[in-house]
Amino acid sequence: MSGPSMPAQMGPLALEVRDLCISFGGVRAVNRCSFEVPETTAVGLIGPNGAGKSTTIDLISGFKVADSGHAVFRGQELIGMKPHEISKLGLVRTFQSPREWASLSVLDNVLVGMRGFERESMLGGMFAAGRQRRAEAESRQRARDLLEDFGLTRLKNDAAGSLSGGQKRLVEFARIAAASPSMVILDEPMGGVNPVLGERIGQAVRALVNQGSSVIVVEHNLRFIEDYCDLVVVMDQGAVIAEGPYESLRDNAQVVTAYLGDVEHA
Ligand code: ADP
Ligand code: MG
Repeated sequence: MSGPSMPAQMGPLALEVRDLCISFGGVRAVNRCSFEVPETTAVGLIGPNGAGKSTTIDLISGFKVADSGHAVFRGQELIGMKPHEISKLGLVRTFQSPREWASLSVLDNVLVGMRGFERESMLGGMFAAGRQRRAEAESRQRARDLLEDFGLTRLKNDAAGSLSGGQKRLVEFARIAAASPSMVILDEPMGGVNPVLGERIGQAVRALVNQGSSVIVVEHNLRFIEDYCDLVVVMDQGAVIAEGPYESLRDNAQVVTAYLGDVEHA
């Protein structure tokens, strides 16, 4: 499976980011940024404030247009595509504040995420009402399984809008997982989250990987990166300065200077 350009131990790539650049006025916010995300892997994207992390995920997800460079998702060039076209390919992202259907129950939020499956099963239903009922029952069962995976069973009948920030984020993750995306990009999932829920959020990332998704997580919390990400990409001044398993970066002087040192001495 692995191509000649890949390190031998890596699986096939979900995403290849190559030489992405964008400037705002005179500022090179992203400057020849390159990294790779293997299939079914959680990659932590870290770096000091202003390193270009948010801009990089905006470029990948189509919310900003790169001046030059590539983001190739399962063989498809994303640069130049609109955000909704990219999400249709199975690459979805979250924003720093969670988005939920506030008036719907937690269970219904997850069922909304499955609409893609239901539409298909409805067509089948025109030929066999029994099959439709079975498909609906299957959707509900899968939704209940996801609620269990994401620690939301107890809240399934609550209105999503009434939950805490961390719980809303879990609902958003469960809704995203319901659509079985190939790739998920999470922008600071631990931001403003009660530490008790932090572990749940981490388990949610692993649940996404276990169901076959690749994940990019922008996160300041290094403990979270160490515990839940398979690989780390370190950005500084718009470029990638190091990448690899967290353990391999501890002794990298450039990384420590750019980032880890700042945090540990803070
Ligand atoms: P990070 O997410 O790593 O903190 P950003 O991607 O937000 O970094 O920002 C990278 C650099 O680009 C910063 O210097 C920031 O001030 C600048 N920048 C980001 N967005 C804009 C914008 N829309 N206009 C001007 N400068 C911007
Ligand atoms: Mg940012």
